[in-house]
Amino acid sequence: MRDKRSCAGRVYGGRDVRGYSCSINAAIQRGGVWWCHVHDPERVKARREARDKAYQVKQDQNQDTQNEGISLLRRLGVNGSVECSGLALQYVRRVGINFSEVEKLLVELGR
Ligand SMILES: [Zn+2]
Repeated sequence: MRDKRSCAGRVYGGRDVRGYSCSINAAIQRGGVWWCHVHDPERVKARREARDKAYQVKQDQNQDTQNEGISLLRRLGVNGSVECSGLALQYVRRVGINFSEVEKLLVELGR
């Protein structure tokens, strides 16, 4: 049976703000240091990159939504500032109307 190796990772979130040593058996050696599958620096890096990418996609979607909101406000004759579009978005969500429905209304109104 293989000797158990300790993971060099630290676990945070308990009572001790300094964290404590990871108790999962190490399985991967990187640069002479042993890591478990959770703390493996390569996996940690991959998870972080995936999270950052997902965040950026969400940010881009929010920007697209805001731009669409501003565009719709301008067509409604409202000076569409960023703050104004935020308020409009809140209103749109509260009344349960979506942008495509606003778009249809604008077409019906000839704007
Ligand atoms: Zn670990």
